[in-house]
Amino acid sequence: TLPVLAVVGRPNVGKSTLVNRIIGRREAVVEDNPGVTRDRVSYPAEWSGRRFTLVDTGGWEVDVAGIHKAVAQQAEVAIELADAVLFVVDATVGSTDTDEQVVRLLRRSGKPVVLVANKVDGPAVEADAAALWSLGLGQPHPISALHGRGTGDLLDAAMAAL
Ligand code: GDP
Ligand code: MG
Repeated sequence: TLPVLAVVGRPNVGKSTLVNRIIGRREAVVEDNPGVTRDRVSYPAEWSGRRFTLVDTGGWEVDVAGIHKAVAQQAEVAIELADAVLFVVDATVGSTDTDEQVVRLLRRSGKPVVLVANKVDGPAVEADAAALWSLGLGQPHPISALHGRGTGDLLDAAMAAL
């Protein structure tokens, strides 16, 4: 069976946009509003001649108060099933309490993690990406899932972790 790379992070950070970018199709549902109910979805993917299964983790219909818990539960299952994790943070927003909660799960899992600083659409946002070193997950990989900026280097790092 193929190694599993899971994409986790809180709603609206651009997980599904990144999944579409990696698989080269528009199958993952991109939502402008967080909190749309959807199951985990797996896609066959390939980079540098290596095949793997890419798992998008979705939104859930949760009230604002329950959002931390729902994200954490979904992330926990995805992390459990994964061989390596792409942890996506919105660099333009920075780290939130929900992000910190997922970081704790990732640490506890012991799984290899590649930190993705998304929405770095241009050089002006690079400094915001660098601020994510503070999460303690190593190097933040600045990308724009929307425009494709930095995704090649990110996938190289992901293959090294997988
Ligand atoms: P998910 O909830 O984490 O799966 O996030 P989505 O992929 O559904 O994206 C949420 C919103 O962020 C959508 O409006 C996307 O178009 C937008 N988005 C995703 N990636 C980027 C990016 O790299 N730059 C910018 N500016 N917007 C992005
Ligand atoms: Mg999504």
